[in-house]
Formats: sequence, C-alpha cells, structure tokens
Amino acid sequence: MKRILTAALLFICLFSGCTREAKTDKDIFSSNDTEISHTGNASATREIFAMDTYMSLTAYGDHAETAVDKAISEIKRLDALLSVGDEKSIVYRLNHGEKADSEDVTFLIERSAWLYENTDGAFDITLFPLMELWGFTGEHPAVPEQSDIDKTLVLCGFDKLIIENDTPEPKDGQGIDFGGIAKGYTSQRIMEIFREYGITSGVVSLGGNVQCYGTKPDGSLWRCGITDPDHPDDTSALSGVISVDDKAVITSGGYERYFTENGKTYHHIINPENGYPADSGLKSVTIVSADGTLADGLSTACFVMGKEKSFAFWREHPELFDMVLITNENEILVTEGLKENFSSRKDYTIIK
Ligand code: ADP
Ligand code: MG
Repeated sequence: MKRILTAALLFICLFSGCTREAKTDKDIFSSNDTEISHTGNASATREIFAMDTYMSLTAYGDHAETAVDKAISEIKRLDALLSVGDEKSIVYRLNHGEKADSEDVTFLIERSAWLYENTDGAFDITLFPLMELWGFTGEHPAVPEQSDIDKTLVLCGFDKLIIENDTPEPKDGQGIDFGGIAKGYTSQRIMEIFREYGITSGVVSLGGNVQCYGTKPDGSLWRCGITDPDHPDDTSALSGVISVDDKAVITSGGYERYFTENGKTYHHIINPENGYPADSGLKSVTIVSADGTLADGLSTACFVMGKEKSFAFWREHPELFDMVLITNENEILVTEGLKENFSSRKDYTIIK
C-alpha cells in the first residue's frame, strides 16, 4: 500500500536531474556532486532517503557543499526526532507517557495549535490513534469496524491534549503525529541553513514537497510542476507549473499514500469529524507560501476542508499563502496571487 512517489511535485529547472528517478539506496547515499557552475559559484547536489521518501537538495554559493552537508544532518536529526515509530524519538517517547522536551516540538506544537484553531479543527495532530487504527502506520492497512472508529474518535481532538510549558502530554490512548507538517518544517529549517552559509540560490524537494531559496542562479524563477492526480507516475502529465522564488510549493493528494479494499480506495489524510479518509471533493491541494511549515499544514488542512471552506480561509489570509486546487471533476482552481505565476495547458479558473 505504501506507494511513495519519488516526486509528487516535479522540478523543472535548467540542469538535468531535477526530475528525479527512483534510485537504489546505494545510488542515493553515494551521490555527492560538487562542481563549479558557469556562474563561478560552487554548487552541491545531494539525495537522501529519509522520512519515508526520496529527497534532493541543491545549493549554489561558495559554501554550497558545507551547507548541503549541514542540511542532510538536519534532515537526519529531525527524522530521528519526529518519527512516530522509532522508540528513541521524542514523539514516540511523548506518546508513551515519557516527558521530553525539545525546541522543535515546542515550535511545532505552537504551529499545530494555530492550524487547529484557524482551520476549524481540520488540521489536528492528535489523529494518530486513528492513523494506527486504519493501519497506516504499519504494513497491513484495512478498513476498521465502525464501533472502533467511534471509540478512537473520542481519544482525538487537539483541545483535549494537555500541554504543559509547550510540551504535549498525551494521556491514555491519545497520541500525536507531526506527519502533516514535518516535511514543510524540515524544508523551512534547510532554508535557514542556506541563509547561514551565504547560499545564493537553492532548492530542496522532500518527497515532492518543494522549497526554493532565492531564484535560479541565472536570476529566473524556479519552475515547480504540479502532478496530475490521475497520472501521478507520469512525469510528463502535469496539471500545471508554478514559477516562484523564495517559496515553498507543497502538495497533499489522496493519490500519495493509499490502499484499496473491495474496490474502494482509502488514503492517509483523515477527516477529524468522522475518522474516515477525507472526502471533500478534492484530488489535490498545492499551497504556495514563504513559510514551509504553514504550507505543509495547510495542504493537509485544505484537503480536509474542501474548496469552499479553503477559499473562505484564503480570503481571510491572502498575504500568507496561495493555492491550486484540483477537484474530483478535474477543475483546476488557482487563487489570484498566482495569476502571473501559474501556467497550464489545461483550462483553469482564477479565484478572487
Ligand atoms: P504527505 O506527508 O504524504 O506529503 P500530508 O502533508 O498531507 O502528506 O500529511 C499527511 C500525514 O499527516 C498523514 O500521513 C498523517 O500522519 C497526518 N495526518 C492525516 N490526517 C491529518 C489531519 N487531518 N491533520 C493533521 N495531520 C494529519
Ligand atoms: Mg501537509
């Protein structure tokens, strides 16, 4: 069931290798290319498998190699910290009644609280017991009994979570999971590292979640492709391209991780209202924002909320983000802030 795409979003940029093919672990871990680009800047590109997905990082600047090495260390640190399955991780320990604090968890709890409150509970890190019940954390997911869903729903709800000094304390049967924001937070942290090391331009793709630093080395915008949800493995079948600098471009889609039972498909984004995979009429949500953590959280939340609620939310916060929604009817809906940055061979509608 675990169908991890090498790229849910595809880069289209000047140098080859921006559309990544799946590689063996050996290819990935031995890759460490440093070269001098035509602009005179050093550049470094690395790939890594972490957080259950393929990731690629590219940076330009005199300290590109160090910056990318530091970014790889940061990915490994956050993977070890936030993993729900690793007994040594902070999240695992919190979920098993231990007290443990970390600056990252403090930050993520604050952002999760904001997202929960502002999305009417659509984004909720306390759905972990439901993720487990559906088997999304293991190898054999299956549709649970309704009575078990009902019992588990009672344990969920961010407003029921005790938080002492910014540290969550899940009690009997409760559990937290930052899976809906972890990759966006990670790409945001990498941007900070790039800034520290004087990187002049850079881009990371964490399982298709893209965040760009500056422009491309030639001064033009980075071009990020939006996967066609009906053809997620076909890198030539894009639903559109978003051109940006200094932004995260993050997609959530029902096609990213799912299983099929009795001919019906069940994906990994849960509607907190009923405990079932969200069925809000959307095939995918792509959020564009300068804030990677926000973009990731909102991609999950808007997927749960559906188009009307998502647009109402955007109209309240147009300065924070823009988005591209693809509906079950294959409409492509693009918020106004992307008017100059979005292109597609297909028909699309600009939302005001
Ligand atoms: P992906 O991680 O596949 O890129 P998302 O960013 O949409 O996709 O995150 C999905 C993950 O978020 C799930 O695997 C689960 O860990 C968690 N999750 C599922 N439903 C919700 C929800 N309603 N609110 C917050 N997190 C959720
Ligand atoms: Mg998300």
